[in-house]
Amino acid sequence: MGGTEQKYVQEAFDTNWVAPLGPNVNGFEQDLASYVEEDSKVACLASGTSALHLALILAGVKLNDTVICQSMTFSASANPITYQGAEPIFVDSEKETWNLCPNHLEKAIKAGIANNKKPKAIIIVHLYGMPAKMDEIVAIANKYEIALIEDAAEALGSTYKGQKCGTFCDYGVLSFNGNKIITTSGGGALVCKTEETKQKTIFLATQARDNAPHYQHSEIGYNYRMSNIVAGIGRGQMEVLDKHIGLRRANNQFYKELFKDVDGIEVFVEPTKDYFSNHWLSCITVDEKKTGFSRENIRLKLLEDNIETRPLWKPMHLQPVFKDCAYFGDSVAEDLFKNGLCLPSGSNLTDEDRDRIKTSFLKMITK
Ligand SMILES: *Cc1c(COP(=O)(O)O)cnc(C)c1O
Repeated sequence: MGGTEQKYVQEAFDTNWVAPLGPNVNGFEQDLASYVEEDSKVACLASGTSALHLALILAGVKLNDTVICQSMTFSASANPITYQGAEPIFVDSEKETWNLCPNHLEKAIKAGIANNKKPKAIIIVHLYGMPAKMDEIVAIANKYEIALIEDAAEALGSTYKGQKCGTFCDYGVLSFNGNKIITTSGGGALVCKTEETKQKTIFLATQARDNAPHYQHSEIGYNYRMSNIVAGIGRGQMEVLDKHIGLRRANNQFYKELFKDVDGIEVFVEPTKDYFSNHWLSCITVDEKKTGFSRENIRLKLLEDNIETRPLWKPMHLQPVFKDCAYFGDSVAEDLFKNGLCLPSGSNLTDEDRDRIKTSFLKMITK
């Protein structure tokens, strides 16, 4: 927490605005819009997952439709596809950004069209804060006229060619879950292009109530709106967002320094100047043939010193729950899962913490 969160929460109590509307929700939406893109319209919701679900509904995804989704991601990117009774088609990543591979994306679309089933939407992710290859992906989505949904849950503050992640498509998803770059304890938002889409989002998120004095419903609704208390935490967090990005990027710099002379360990960094990552998490890949130890050896060694690291996301096409879904790609995502590791990356890492990590790792390579 940054310090001013309680002030906004206190205001909500003082003015008795504790419901899922009120000045903090409007204020947080305004703060987010100003931050990502002045002309965007932001709707605050209960979670990033609910934002993804509503984006799919707005994109017209229905029973038995297919939706293309980046395989290398957290399950929350893919789960809402099944909430709609639609079927995910998973696509591999490319090696530079670890995100959706434009070549395999086009193959998946062509295969769907040949099968008389054009995919209804595409979900792309900016993994660990790294922007995806948006020029190529947007061009493909436009060429085939398929709705694009941007899962920017991990990438608030990241930019591609100077443009903020979450603003490239019709629907941009943000998350303020406990582990993200800023948190409201739990929450999310949908970044929309028009006021009309924002109002439709809020309508669906508040039980789809028709404009009538009594309770009347012509559509199925959801209870997905953010509360005014939670939004108060968000307003305070906005004041420390850029500071958090600076701290996460400093962590990445520390790991680059630590591993620069270790043959076989690559720190995940921006491929060119077009990309600016918030480095939500810092990650490495380990080439066991060169290092003589695997990512699992590193994980277990650091764990002995009570330092937690984790394997990268296990790709969705390898998950038991999605085993029957179609997959287009090679083994990029699979190899990342096999050889990749997320390192301690919190905004609150101290110099002392970094020293511990360094000592623990050096012990391992000099044994
Ligand atoms: C965290 C996350 C989500 C889900 O956000 P919640 O707010 O936890 O529902 C979706 N996609 C990705 C890639 C995430 O990391």
